[in-house]
Amino acid sequence: MDFSDSRREARILIVDDSPTSIRLVSHFVRDMGSVHFATSGEAGLKMAIDLCPDLILLDMEMPGMDGLETCSQIRKNADLLDVPVIFITAHSSVDQEVAGFAVGAVDFIGKPLSEPIVRARVRTHLTLKQQSDLLRELAMRDGLTGIHNRRAFDERMVLECRRHRRTPGSLGLAIIDIDNFKAYNDFYGHQAGDACLREVAQLIDASARRPGEMAARYGGEEFAVIIPSCSVEEAQRYGEYLAAQVRALALPHEASPPGVVTVSIGVAAGAPESEQADQQLLAFADAALYRAKDAGRNRVIVAGDAQ
Ligand code: GH3
Ligand code: MG
Ligand code: MG
Ligand code: MG
Repeated sequence: MDFSDSRREARILIVDDSPTSIRLVSHFVRDMGSVHFATSGEAGLKMAIDLCPDLILLDMEMPGMDGLETCSQIRKNADLLDVPVIFITAHSSVDQEVAGFAVGAVDFIGKPLSEPIVRARVRTHLTLKQQSDLLRELAMRDGLTGIHNRRAFDERMVLECRRHRRTPGSLGLAIIDIDNFKAYNDFYGHQAGDACLREVAQLIDASARRPGEMAARYGGEEFAVIIPSCSVEEAQRYGEYLAAQVRALALPHEASPPGVVTVSIGVAAGAPESEQADQQLLAFADAALYRAKDAGRNRVIVAGDAQ
């Protein structure tokens, strides 16, 4: 399982109009992550969008866009919803703190700044952020195989459909089902079945490493791969490649006619035209998979081909 992203160095963004303040805060947190800074609310917002930091230390009092306004703009960005914002302020009052929490801040640090307090608050919120990132990542993973699960797949399909509706090009999808897998379990036992699922899952995952591609365990012995910017021909080539790779694994399957583990694959590709395009593409790929089973298994069928 690859959780490298949740263990990477934390990114801390300091937004303050005073270079002296920035220098001081940077110095306090220098060993807690990579430190980035901006000297206005406008620049801070832009940098937050580009950087997607793990924590923002935001000065409340700035000319132009002040801290409150900057924080509420940050909260409006869907990609920055989970980024904790700590206000730094010289004029702490109950009203101001209430206003800060109302726009989505998680904490306050009063000036003059004290090193142990800044470090303690930053450490607390970086730890919480890291834990929530890890939980989200776990919620998107399949427990048996470690690859993405159905939830992750469904979310990505909606996003990719939306993205492909804004840009030209078609979205490809492959649904992969292991052949005669019930017989595999019956012959070799359920534990061996689990091990087989893991091997096939790793292979499928490794076959989908280009940017934007995603492999997921869709159900029991069924997997799905999203292939962005992919023509019908490319989707078919991918399917043929994957089916050959699974055969090349040469996992013995004495209860299946080829003698080794094989898969049937249904592929579909198309330019998403409506909100329901993800469901349509799935239905097409699924129908193609059904035909691949019907035609004798261990093959790839492209949706829309003559019956
Ligand atoms: P087909 O070639 O038509 O796909 O036949 P099949 O036997 O693969 O399909 P069927 O749907 O009849 O059986 C799927 C089997 O997959 C039955 C189920 O026990 C097994 N299976 C599903 N999830 C798991 C799992 O997590 N571990 C193991 N070992 N087996 C599983
Ligand atoms: Mg200021
Ligand atoms: Mg099967
Ligand atoms: Mg199945």
